[in-house]
Amino acid sequence: MIPFSPPRIDDRTIRAVEETLRSGWITTGPRTKEFERRLAAYCGVERVIALNSWTNAAELVLRWFGIGPGDEVIVPAYTYCATANIVTHVGAKPVLVDVLDDFTIDPEAVKRALSPRTKCIIPVDIGGLPARVGEIMRIAEEATGLFTPKLNLRTDGTNPQMRLGRALVLSDAAHSFGARIGGAPVGKQADITGFSFHAVKNLTTAEGGALAFRLPQPFDSEELYRFFNTFSLHGQNKDALAKNQPGSWRYDVAFPGFKCNMTDLQAAIGLVELERYDSETIPRRKAICERYQQAFTGDARYIPPVLRDDARESSYHLFMLRLNGATEEQRDAVIAAIARREVSVNVHFIPLPLLSFYKGQGHAISSFPNTHRLYQAEISLPVYYDLTDAQVDEVVAAVKAATREVMGA
Ligand SMILES: *Cc1c(COP(=O)(O)O)cnc(C)c1O
Repeated sequence: MIPFSPPRIDDRTIRAVEETLRSGWITTGPRTKEFERRLAAYCGVERVIALNSWTNAAELVLRWFGIGPGDEVIVPAYTYCATANIVTHVGAKPVLVDVLDDFTIDPEAVKRALSPRTKCIIPVDIGGLPARVGEIMRIAEEATGLFTPKLNLRTDGTNPQMRLGRALVLSDAAHSFGARIGGAPVGKQADITGFSFHAVKNLTTAEGGALAFRLPQPFDSEELYRFFNTFSLHGQNKDALAKNQPGSWRYDVAFPGFKCNMTDLQAAIGLVELERYDSETIPRRKAICERYQQAFTGDARYIPPVLRDDARESSYHLFMLRLNGATEEQRDAVIAAIARREVSVNVHFIPLPLLSFYKGQGHAISSFPNTHRLYQAEISLPVYYDLTDAQVDEVVAAVKAATREVMGA
């Protein structure tokens, strides 16, 4: 059986976790701080904060920006539920828009969806291919006239909405750590970029996430880092490590924060992953995707994904193959036929309007024709470090035999 995406756990990972367990410090501490410094250096930004998931990290961003009831956040219809769930959590309204043929959010659709209630836009780097984040930034910058900040937003004296004066661009880079836009690593383009280190992602900490800050002046990355650090630890002015110093027991709580810090156990895994990311992880994933690309290109039954173009290069997170002209029923039957050949594949993603909750909120898939068309024919193939070339060839053979079986060609 070929699994879909097992994590790469080897002796190095296990040793790093064991050392942490034996070090006497297992929650947020020196390893998390080191992981944050290295992530920032990797992305070419001043500051990164590591937290317990993309979901909680990105939700903190919405709360920091003061987004709530009456506000709108633009998200693609084609994404994982987390992108829209965080908007729902804070009481705002997710405004869904359609995607382009490469699965990323359509900038023209974003423009049409802007309103005086728009507080944030969340482009998604689906499969690892960066969305057109530069264009989305320009759209947000050109729509300052439409933006209506809330007054008297926060008790701590700052008002991020007044300071920014436009909709915030929060990039959902859950798939795209290590991808590039114009040669620069993802993390340098949007106001804030959110990464996920969930077990199935390119770089994992079992569960985890991070935020890279790139907000314009007068925002200060150090100040943002300190705020998010406190915000993710109950609003407490000292973390566990600081309180652990002899005599340092007293602390204060200026506001009721949340609890979503990363632990040193997670960071220990992340540090090992990061150290071999560019030398081993990305090259192997790229080689696998290119082997698939070669096998499916020129075969009229398939539409292979965009892995790079003039401006962008994927992180090679997913290989999102499409069956040319297949109905949803045929796609499902092909997946069943692939499964009978002992190969695990997946579908990324079930569009938001097809999920009960979002359908119930009045979102109809018929309003997002591209999303629907892409979804119906999509099959994600296994991509992971330990997948061998021979296994890649087995997957290709299984997919082609399954297609013949179902589609008859
Ligand atoms: C995995 C994923 C998330 C959520 O990440 P977590 O770290 O699990 O919270 C968000 N968006 C997309 C597109 C994802 O695939």
